[in-house]
Amino acid sequence: MPRASIFDRLLADFIVSAASPDRFPSDGLAEIAFLGRSNVGKSSLINALIGHKGLAHTSNTPGRTQTINFYRVTSGGKKLIESYLLNRAMLQLSLVILDARRGWMPPDLELKQWLEAHHHQYLVIATKMDKLNQSDAHRNLAAIRKSGVEPLACSAVTGRGVREIWQAIAKTHHRR
Ligand code: GDP
Repeated sequence: MPRASIFDRLLADFIVSAASPDRFPSDGLAEIAFLGRSNVGKSSLINALIGHKGLAHTSNTPGRTQTINFYRVTSGGKKLIESYLLNRAMLQLSLVILDARRGWMPPDLELKQWLEAHHHQYLVIATKMDKLNQSDAHRNLAAIRKSGVEPLACSAVTGRGVREIWQAIAKTHHRR
């Protein structure tokens, strides 16, 4: 499948609504992209992260950017998203959001390969964990792990994993 096909299923739905790259904010803050299929739980996760710590998340490292711009990337608008991911200097990290009940779907795996091919830092988040009983949770997380990455288990409903996601964000470095 051609590489661009990943973005056929993606749509830029930025929190700072931007129809073209010249509308992206120029405040110089680090940015995090939320990538995943429609209804996977991106908005809920953003709300859980912001609700927990607030947008003005403070880093323990002096001099580090203390605020992060969040982007939600869903389906469609492939040119804008690919251009954003490839060219956006402020992009610090991508979060690949999976529904813990379903795990990896083919478009998610394509996205993972694309991020790796372009040497992007990313975290895999298994959300909606509250919808799984313990044995299904165990089994599904193990299946996600088979791709070679350790998923962060979370739930926007219970707040599980929110602290761990912030900790993981804080550990990433802004490379560009
Ligand atoms: P988005 O399209 O990826 O932004 O997905 P949303 O955040 O809008 O979530 C889609 C649906 O899943 C909504 O009905 C949410 O209430 C629900 N949802 C999202 N996260 C969770 C979660 O962690 N647990 C549960 N039980 N429902 C969730």
